[in-house]
Amino acid sequence: LHKQFPVYGSFGKLWGAKAYVNAVTDVSIQLYEGETYGLVGESGSGKSTTGRAILGLTPASQGNVLYRNRDVAAMSREEMRKFRKDVQLVFQDPFSSLNPRKRIGRMLEEPLIIHKMGDKAERQEQVFRILKTVGLQPEHAFRFPHEFSGGQRQRLGLARALIMNPKIIVCDEPVSALDVSIQSQILNMLKRLQQELKLTLLFITHDISVVRYISDRIGIMYLGKIMEEALTDDLFHEPLHPYTKALFSAVPDFNRSRLKERIILRGEIPSPISPPSGCVFHTRCPYATDVCKTDIPAVREVRPGHKVACHLVD
Ligand code: SF4
Ligand code: MG
Repeated sequence: LHKQFPVYGSFGKLWGAKAYVNAVTDVSIQLYEGETYGLVGESGSGKSTTGRAILGLTPASQGNVLYRNRDVAAMSREEMRKFRKDVQLVFQDPFSSLNPRKRIGRMLEEPLIIHKMGDKAERQEQVFRILKTVGLQPEHAFRFPHEFSGGQRQRLGLARALIMNPKIIVCDEPVSALDVSIQSQILNMLKRLQQELKLTLLFITHDISVVRYISDRIGIMYLGKIMEEALTDDLFHEPLHPYTKALFSAVPDFNRSRLKERIILRGEIPSPISPPSGCVFHTRCPYATDVCKTDIPAVREVRPGHKVACHLVD
C-alpha cells in the first residue's frame, strides 16, 4: 500500500504550493486467520493510515487490499456488504463523537438495522447478549454515553464492533486513553474474546508493552514503512533493526540487561513531506553508512518469518 495526502501551504519560496505527505510507502502486511498482528510505531509513522486503508476508510493511493484472495476494489455490491460486516474498527474512545442523547441500546442496534439483520425483538436480544459478552449488563442498553466510564465506553466500542459478528477487528490505540489497570482488563477481555470467537486482530499502538502482551506477530513502522516484522517472541528475543532496538531501549526497565546494544535516538522524526533518501531512518541511525543515504534497503526474510529492511543485516 501507498498513501499520500496532499497538503497546501508554503514550501520553500512557493506559497500556496501543493506537496504530498507520504503517510504510507510500500507497506505490505499479511494477516493470518486467528492471529493478532501488532502494528507499532510512533505517532506519524503511518500505522493508523495503514489500518484505515485496509478498511477502505482512507483509500490507498496505490496498492490493493485482498480479503480471502479477493481484491476489495473489484468486489460486487454483495461481496462489499459482506466485507464491511466482516471487518470492523475499534478506536480510542469511540463514543466521544457520538450523539450524547442517544441511548446505548439504540447505538448498538444501528448497524443491525443498516445491515437488515433480524426483527426488533431479535435485535434487542442481540444487544443484550453482546452487552454481556463485553462484561456489561442488559440494563446498560437504556443508558446514555455520559453515564459510562472510559473503560466501559471502550467495552461499548468493542460491543458495537462485535455485534456484526466480524472476522477481523482493526483496533487503533483502543486502550491508550485508559489507566493502566483498566488497560489490562480490556486487553485481557480482548484476548479472551479473540480465542472464543476466533477473531483476527490488527492491533495498532505506540505502546511496546501493550503490543508485546497482545500480539502473536509484530510489524515495526517508521516514517510510513515497515522496518522489521517477526513473531513476537523472536522480535523481543533478538531485535535486528536499529530502529527496533532504539524503540525497545526507550522502554524503562525493559530488557535493559538483555538488550545487547542500547540505542538512544536523537533528533525528531523527519517530515513525511520530504522523507530522507535511501533508508528513511538514516538521519537518526548510529550505524548509517554512505550506502544508507542513497539505497533503499529491501525487506529481507533473514529467518523464517523474520523480515528486516536494513543494509547492515544483509
Ligand atoms: Fe541504519 Fe543503514 Fe540499516 Fe537504515 S539501512 S537502519 S541507516 S544501518
Ligand atoms: Mg494514530
